[in-house]
Amino acid sequence: MTLRAILQARLTERRERGLYRRLKTLEAAPSPGAVLDGRPMVAFSSNDYLGLATHPEVIAAQQEGARLGAGATASHLVNGHFGIHEQLQDALAAATGREAALVFSSGYAANMGAICALIGRGDSIVSDKLNHASLIDGARLSRAESLRFAHSDTGALARQLARAATAGGNTLVAVDGVYSMDGDCAPLAEIAQLCREHDAWLMVDEAHGFGVMGSEALPVAGSAAAAGLGEEEVPVLMGTLGKAAGNAGAFVAGSRELIDYLVQFARTYIYTTGMPPAVAAGALAAVRVMQRKPELRQCLQDNIAHFRRGAAERGLPLCDSASPIQPLLLGCEQTVMSVAAELASRGFLVGAIRPPTVPAGTARLRITLSAAHTAAQIDALLDALGTALTGTLCGEGAAREVSP
Ligand SMILES: *Cc1c(COP(=O)(O)O)cnc(C)c1O
Repeated sequence: MTLRAILQARLTERRERGLYRRLKTLEAAPSPGAVLDGRPMVAFSSNDYLGLATHPEVIAAQQEGARLGAGATASHLVNGHFGIHEQLQDALAAATGREAALVFSSGYAANMGAICALIGRGDSIVSDKLNHASLIDGARLSRAESLRFAHSDTGALARQLARAATAGGNTLVAVDGVYSMDGDCAPLAEIAQLCREHDAWLMVDEAHGFGVMGSEALPVAGSAAAAGLGEEEVPVLMGTLGKAAGNAGAFVAGSRELIDYLVQFARTYIYTTGMPPAVAAGALAAVRVMQRKPELRQCLQDNIAHFRRGAAERGLPLCDSASPIQPLLLGCEQTVMSVAAELASRGFLVGAIRPPTVPAGTARLRITLSAAHTAAQIDALLDALGTALTGTLCGEGAAREVSP
């Protein structure tokens, strides 16, 4: 068979299973006003939780940063590392309460690079089954023994840690702090305690925690800080700059030795072009805005509470999530697609998430809230959801004892 024929067959199979994905081409930044096919929409599908992707200060900083050049022109270790990267790394280290930080061009690269640098053959990596694909791929590529545990099941984690201990090498436990498709937080205090008991290193992916939550002293550091954990408990903290920070890229924060080590050994840092200076400048401005404006987080929290209250009143299949990620579990792919299409026709963009991104039978609408939404926009979405969902829930997967 020719390559083209094989690809056509595989694509047809995917279409028949209702899993075919199509790109939406937007004509404006979805924060939260988007334009799709010439029509104005309200987006409840971006990860721009604080509205920083369109914040005037952040955009002005990007434009100013572009005066250093449109691109970094080389890898960080060759000649693609600028003062603006250093400033951003210092700001990220301070914001997360760590000694140092290192920027990567994406969260995907940061996770793959950090995991593969820290462990290898003879070691073990223990992961939550709902971990982000980049952590899973990092685990695979590392060649360490990969052990998984049922979502947020600390008993199962303890058993895998005991198994890992018999293997003799080092053990890395990697979890999302806030799960990207469910919105729930990992039980980090218990996980950290188990890591301490088993001499395992804990890595927390703060893609959805950074900027959104933290402690009193470190209000934007993420879910680990919110759980009262610092560098001793969470020696490897990864965060992204394309979500609440509204830009692109990511970082790992930790001890000076960790960062120095990653510069030497993280291949996704070494063998790739440096972050464009404009992006570093935009991200730095975003971190400063986050820290200076706690009212953005308050507004986000108010919007989350408003959405959950309205959804509960309307009997929508809410999940147990306190984060800006508010999935509505519908179960079957066709229902999710038809409800998302109905919402789009009413001017709302929501994520339609299907397997293999989520487990079979747990297709869902992934609704994300932002500080930039108004109460009226949220009410309008809730009304549209109420109408779209009436009578459309498909028997099997609908509103059952889904998630956390
Ligand atoms: C988005 C995401 C990533 C990847 O980050 P990018 O910067 O988009 O590559 C990693 N982990 C989690 C949990 C994410 O949600």
